[in-house]
Amino acid sequence: MQITFLGTGTSNGIPMVACACAVCRSDNPRNKRLRSSVWLEKDGHALLIDASSDFRQQALTHNILDVDDVLITHTHADHVFGLDEFRRFNIKYQKRVNVYLSAEADKELRATLRYMYETPRQAGGGITALDNHILQNYQAINIGGFSVAALPIKHGLYEIFGYRVDDFAYLTDCSEIPEKTFERLKNLNVLVLDALRDTPHPTHFSLEQAVAAARRIGARQTYFTHIAHNLEHETTNKTLLPNMQLAYDGLKVII
Ligand SMILES: [Zn+2]
Ligand SMILES: [Zn+2]
Ligand SMILES: [Zn+2]
Repeated sequence: MQITFLGTGTSNGIPMVACACAVCRSDNPRNKRLRSSVWLEKDGHALLIDASSDFRQQALTHNILDVDDVLITHTHADHVFGLDEFRRFNIKYQKRVNVYLSAEADKELRATLRYMYETPRQAGGGITALDNHILQNYQAINIGGFSVAALPIKHGLYEIFGYRVDDFAYLTDCSEIPEKTFERLKNLNVLVLDALRDTPHPTHFSLEQAVAAARRIGARQTYFTHIAHNLEHETTNKTLLPNMQLAYDGLKVII
């Protein structure tokens, strides 16, 4: 499997609008972070996790020519507003795109992106055509040769999904991992975990909390994502072990 980090930034993206801090002004490309998402490829099949608000730019940069299936972690804007870009795939390939998500996320998405799920008065430039598939907690499903499991995690007061895909796991926007989810995270090759900043936050792991969770999970390699402007790439990584590092946009990992 090849994993491509399409974006590793928090909801604002880095640089943030109207911020003049050293990280936002940095010339280092590894301090430039689009909204978080990963693209998985295996045996000619591909799977997207989250359709970030930067999906258009990410698809152009990484030459993503088609999406059949997308796993949605939750419905915050930075994770779903890229769904609107799927119109290109609807029109080009005359097909709908499969969206996998929790029952609660399905309900919220139908409210947030109501125009995609109702018959329009007039279609104009076309409206994204999606087929939503609801996953239950801990449900395992095969999607295009990928073994996917939906793993509940806490995102502040919300319960959202992380996903295990074969021996890879992606837990973004995570502030707590339930015991039962820890049990499903054994024998991982690569783990991706939320690490927002160095100070505590009500809805995200701090770097210290993420490192503690990563130690307990014990994946061969851990990458941190959904990173705010508080963490400079190079100086932060120097404080971390080689098998636990900040990810960056464009990072490709083969497992
Ligand atoms: Zn987010
Ligand atoms: Zn800044
Ligand atoms: Zn979120």
